[in-house]
Amino acid sequence: MSFSAIVIDKGDAGQTVAIQQVDEAQLPEGDVTIDVEYSTLNYKDGLAITGSSPVVRKFPMVPGIDLVGTVRESSNGEYKAGDKVVLNGWGVGEGHWGGLSQVARLKGEWLIPLPAAFSPKQAVSIGTAGYTAALCVDALVNFGVTPDQGEILVTGATGGVGSVAIALLKKAGFTVAASSGKASEHEYLTKLGATTIIDRAELSEKGKPLQKERWAGVVDSVGSFTLANAVAQTKYRGAVAACGLAQGADFPATVMPFILRGVSLLGIDSVNAPKAPRLAAWDRLAKDLDASALELIAATEIGLSDAIQAGADILAGTVRGRIVVDVNR
Ligand code: NDP
Repeated sequence: MSFSAIVIDKGDAGQTVAIQQVDEAQLPEGDVTIDVEYSTLNYKDGLAITGSSPVVRKFPMVPGIDLVGTVRESSNGEYKAGDKVVLNGWGVGEGHWGGLSQVARLKGEWLIPLPAAFSPKQAVSIGTAGYTAALCVDALVNFGVTPDQGEILVTGATGGVGSVAIALLKKAGFTVAASSGKASEHEYLTKLGATTIIDRAELSEKGKPLQKERWAGVVDSVGSFTLANAVAQTKYRGAVAACGLAQGADFPATVMPFILRGVSLLGIDSVNAPKAPRLAAWDRLAKDLDASALELIAATEIGLSDAIQAGADILAGTVRGRIVVDVNR
């Protein structure tokens, strides 16, 4: 039996990406075989598909760091045929064949059961970006940031992480300021729950080491000068959850906010996060992400053949919210 998948390969002429018919005998090792229903496009999938950053560690590779599907065969005690499952991260789509494919074979320990609150499509709409947003909000809340302490800044606001973070923060009672480069999307950000919108240009250039204290907490998916300025504007004993690098992987900052204001920088990794924080993040999503907000965030659905172009679009920063990929059309 064969199935359709996006396959990234590398030869003398460089990287190639195409939809291919793949024989099931070529599937990688794993104890659970899944009929994939949906995948999605995250920033990292854009990096893999375009080859603009070396996230793919083995060739040929099927990209797709997220998937939702139905177990077809399993020798793992936790899953049986017919179970609906979700996969986010674990290096899938980087070092192990991923979700932009009609079939996947994975390790059962990487999976979580599809949360009862979500349909397969809703769960994939959330995907790694949304689950990372929940990890960021959990980090701020567990740190001790509370709504009465002041506004929370969300950078990269119209992106996948940013959009879900705004909706979750709003539902948890926080006042949210959204930093975005898309002047056309202010209504979208307001609908999600932002009460202040700032032009990302205010944050993206080199700034002073200590600036006027504005934020009780920050969710940053942008890195570089934006992160440095966000830290420099964080209030005394506030916290910044850093998860991304859409502007850059550099962090051109000083220690002043840390040593004079007691600001904390909280690192967020979704790929290898253990099961407990993963499930806690999904619990927050189930509790606090309204179906209407999710519909607004994940308004774009495409087929497998459109996913290659969408990978380039996401890197260009032109995508709003989340893109769902129906791998069977
Ligand atoms: P998206 O592409 O959906 O969103 C990124 C957003 O950042 C864009 O929509 C844009 O928002 C803003 N942006 C883009 N380019 C720039 C730039 N040059 N300068 C400033 N802002 C920019 O990506 P995701 O939300 O999926 O991911 C965001 C980041 O988080 C990525 O770097 C990704 O790799 C990282 N990430 C990390 C994870 C982890 O485990 N740590 C997990 C998931 C994602 P706007 O136009 O509104 O300004």
